[in-house]
Amino acid sequence: MSTAFLHHRDCILHDMGAGHPESPQRIMAIEDHLLATGLLQHLAEYESPPATLEQLSRVHDRSYVDTIAAGSPQHGVVHLDPDTAMNPHSYQAALRSAGAVVMATDLVIGAKAENAFCNVRPPGHHACRHQAMGFCFFNNIAVGAAHALDHHGLKRVAIADFDVHHGNGTEDIFHDDPRVMMVSTFQHPFYPYSGIEGRSSRMVNVPLAAYSSGEQFRNAVTAHWLPALEAFRPQMLFISAGFDAHRDDDMAMLGLVDADYAWVTQQLKDIAHRHSEGRIVSSLEGGYELGALARSVGRHVRVLAGL
Ligand SMILES: [Zn+2]
Repeated sequence: MSTAFLHHRDCILHDMGAGHPESPQRIMAIEDHLLATGLLQHLAEYESPPATLEQLSRVHDRSYVDTIAAGSPQHGVVHLDPDTAMNPHSYQAALRSAGAVVMATDLVIGAKAENAFCNVRPPGHHACRHQAMGFCFFNNIAVGAAHALDHHGLKRVAIADFDVHHGNGTEDIFHDDPRVMMVSTFQHPFYPYSGIEGRSSRMVNVPLAAYSSGEQFRNAVTAHWLPALEAFRPQMLFISAGFDAHRDDDMAMLGLVDADYAWVTQQLKDIAHRHSEGRIVSSLEGGYELGALARSVGRHVRVLAGL
């Protein structure tokens, strides 16, 4: 079985304006890198379908989904908050991004793929049950996790989030759901200034001070994530794969390097092999320095694919 690679052209057409760091070039740089390094030929490519209202409504209020559906302008760009804006393609891109994680979940649970990476945008982990923020509209990874639980009947899933920002939306959606564990690392104090108050045995949020190194990141994962995941025994593992903790990324001030992303992916793969029949679905979150982003995703995907 191979690693699935999900994408859709609509995710390139979503554009929040010239100079916005969450740009279409991000997923193009990733795909170019995977093509140029020969990695792409080892992956099984799929065009992602749009998520359905039923799938989105598992983690978002129906009225919120309706608001986003009505939000895409006929032309130009409209802002939902200072960072988050819609153009005429944004709603479709948001549907395809969440739909990618749903399809990836079906492929992996249905044993059509060993694991999957969704090269999609807009990202999702700041999207709350009824609020868009931080470049995010629908919480893609949460939509996929809820699909694994409610449609496929899994009893326990875990979400690992190594984006430099805390996944406040994912916490908002799942903090009261005993079927879901979230493990995360993030720069703190830093946007969105959450992740400390909500900590619990299932919300394993590990703050890292500005200028923390890759070694400190690895120590946090080893000390906090891995024992929690071993005890929880998730039946499937989801990854909110943000690459903005890279030392080349100006968005934040952590010091990870390409090899740290390969390392953490291998740790998660080992957990998945012990407890989850190897089932992993990873979806792109942040990562804004195009070279570091493309290389780091390459390392992540290479480990997923066992290459
Ligand atoms: Zn981020």
